[in-house]
Amino acid sequence: MKVTNQSIPCPVCAEQGKDSQIQFETSQLLSGVQFACPVCQSTIGLSAESKPAVRRAMDELNELKRNMSQ
Ligand SMILES: [Zn+2]
Repeated sequence: MKVTNQSIPCPVCAEQGKDSQIQFETSQLLSGVQFACPVCQSTIGLSAESKPAVRRAMDELNELKRNMSQ
């Protein structure tokens, strides 16, 4: 698996009108590592199950996961 650095807009910051990107590494994400927003410290991860906004971000990540397994 190649290592890919990615970022997604932080869903929590977006709701507050802020623009923040959460950087993550796909291979680590898929192995269960969580990544934190540098602004609000919200964490994202494949096992996250907290806020609806985070869940939306998780949908994107699951999409990514599906693409990577092809
Ligand atoms: Zn944030």
